[in-house]
Amino acid sequence: MSSEQTLERAAEGAAQEAAEIPAYRPFHLQVLRTSRLSPSFVRVTFTGDDLAGFADNGFDQRIKVILPLADGTFTPLGDGADWYLRWRALPEALRNPIRTYTVRALRQAPRELDVDFVLHGDISPASRWATYAAPGDRVVVVGPNAACHGPTGGQEWAPPPGAARLLLAGDETAVPAIAAIAESLSGDVRARVLLEVPQAADALPLSVPPGVEVAWLPREGARHGELLVPAVREALSGLQASGGAAGPLEDVDVDAEILWEVPEPVSHGGDGFYAWLAGEAGVVKALRRLLVQEAGIDRSSVAFMGYWRQGRSEAG
Ligand SMILES: Cc1cc2nc3c(=O)[nH]c(=O)nc-3n(C[C@H](O)[C@H](O)[C@H](O)COP(=O)(O)OP(=O)(O)OC[C@H]3O[C@@H](n4cnc5c(N)ncnc54)[C@H](O)[C@@H]3O)c2cc1C
Repeated sequence: MSSEQTLERAAEGAAQEAAEIPAYRPFHLQVLRTSRLSPSFVRVTFTGDDLAGFADNGFDQRIKVILPLADGTFTPLGDGADWYLRWRALPEALRNPIRTYTVRALRQAPRELDVDFVLHGDISPASRWATYAAPGDRVVVVGPNAACHGPTGGQEWAPPPGAARLLLAGDETAVPAIAAIAESLSGDVRARVLLEVPQAADALPLSVPPGVEVAWLPREGARHGELLVPAVREALSGLQASGGAAGPLEDVDVDAEILWEVPEPVSHGGDGFYAWLAGEAGVVKALRRLLVQEAGIDRSSVAFMGYWRQGRSEAG
């Protein structure tokens, strides 16, 4: 075999190997400890040898948490990229509940993964599981695979280089993502962080650089968005964020589809403003109208993400 053929074979082998390594894969973990952070948040710290292969991408890294069936069991889904197809093909009774969460922190020594769960009652699968989670409880977390050579995805935080006026806003479900992003910001940006939470006691300590101004907005019984929407309006003027003429805005039916509008990451451009907004889909829809129609902000500078929908389970 010529040296050229050998190189070709090696390249083919590497390409095949890369194609077989999934960007996301199931990780088999167990609860190490739980800490009640506030009335509405419990931090569940997972551990397991499998975490050694979990990629540490930071920011708003999303994961899927596969919860046990009522009898405590997990229907095997394999360890490959086709876990979701396998899950979909199962009869309903054997399908473990799956919900979307955020990596709050990952530590490799010792192997620990923190996920902050909002407690909103003990009827729905994830909130109930988190309410009663105890050391030794098992879950499967589908997360980014460190063995994957390319990008693993699952993150939406992508400000253009040079964006120095930032807005991060969301409700309690977005607190873990916003906290991780805000704590990673450099000292030379100006950022407004708006966090609407159920109660004043849900304001958590955050370690952010001096240019980052954090406001906790306790609803204390008000409807979702009642405090967040006006606070975002005010923050826009403080950050001198306004655009040209308002563009047309097509309607999104948040009861029928997921509101998820995230601009493609760009390597340059923009006027230095970038916003990341997530939470209850109806509220995010109102924020979309505010930014795009009222303020005329370019949609390429804003990520809008409906994390959950009032009255609708993530299961559909
Ligand atoms: C990318 C992404 C990241 C997320 N990260 C986090 C995170 O780190 N922490 C976190 O707690 N959540 C997070 N969420 C939101 C979480 O996935 C939903 O809240 C999920 O619906 C909870 O599942 P459940 O089984 O408790 O309720 P479901 O079975 O999905 O819903 C049952 C009922 O509860 C309602 N409901 C769901 N969530 C809430 C809530 N927070 N408050 C009040 N009512 C609710 C629904 O409207 C529905 O009526 C994230 C969502 C996305 C898309």
